[in-house]
Amino acid sequence: MLKVAIQLSSFLVLCIFSGIAFAKLGFNFYLGAVVGGAIQYIFTYAINSFVQTYASLKNKELENERIKQFSLQGMEVECPCSKKVKDFVPIVLNTQNKYKCKECQKLISVYVTPATALVTEPLINTDITDPKIIENNEL
Ligand SMILES: [Zn+2]
Repeated sequence: MLKVAIQLSSFLVLCIFSGIAFAKLGFNFYLGAVVGGAIQYIFTYAINSFVQTYASLKNKELENERIKQFSLQGMEVECPCSKKVKDFVPIVLNTQNKYKCKECQKLISVYVTPATALVTEPLINTDITDPKIIENNEL
């Protein structure tokens, strides 16, 4: 509200100054005020459009960078808080992985526990109706 009041008062002050400048040059005061207001409006609109476009492009760029980083290594984890919020967090194996929960705003540590499993080779061209083929492959 205060920001709008300051913008409006500065807009009116600049309108009055441009009106006075026009009057000093021999033109109509009101014409000067309207021309000054129009110039300010166009200038403000152009700057706002530029800033918004730049900010949205920058945000998109940052989001793309974040997605790229996350796609390298990441894991869906659940926050231990009562809300049990699931979040996709980047995982880097040689550092302690931490993230901030988007619900409870607490810092959460992620522990990666390695597990092992025996690698087996699939039996190719096995006919399950004839168990002798499996027996032959095991020999
Ligand atoms: Zn949480």
